Amino acid sequence: MSIFDKNGKLLIPFPERLKRLGAEKNVVVEKRKILVKLLYCTNGHMLIREENPKFDDQPGIHLICEGDTFWQSVYLSPYQGDSRKKFNKDFNKNEILRVYCPECNAEFPKYAPHDCRTGAMYIALFLDAKADINNSVCICNVWGCPSNFLRLSGEVYSEVRGKFPIR
Ligand SMILES: [Zn+2]
Ligand SMILES: [Zn+2]
Repeated sequence: MSIFDKNGKLLIPFPERLKRLGAEKNVVVEKRKILVKLLYCTNGHMLIREENPKFDDQPGIHLICEGDTFWQSVYLSPYQGDSRKKFNKDFNKNEILRVYCPECNAEFPKYAPHDCRTGAMYIALFLDAKADINNSVCICNVWGCPSNFLRLSGEVYSEVRGKFPIR
């Protein structure tokens, strides 16, 4: 059985436990899909706002992404495993980005290296305003790399990994 639906959203195998733990962090499990409703920078600014561009009626995650030659606003889908994004101009494929809060420009902290290419790092977006790494969504900072994972109370609950290393 595929772990993705026809639109590429992740279907999770053990929804009940995640449902309980996720509820207090505004992580919603619906029809075996994970939807994140609130995310914060290290200074407690909200990255998901009602006015953001929508993905299936749900507001996206607003980030400022800076590549080698320009920066722009990028909106990520709030569904885990859904690689849709909204932005003006493509970065180069596999470009390593620096990612900032759209409100205070704080750079998101690096959590761990990712093996898709040299220098790639997972960066942490926080599920509550305390900016606790144990409750976070970690995304790879390489443009075009879909890898990410969700941590709740210090445990990895669901993970999406790119199919191929993009070296
Ligand atoms: Zn901020
Ligand atoms: Zn990666």
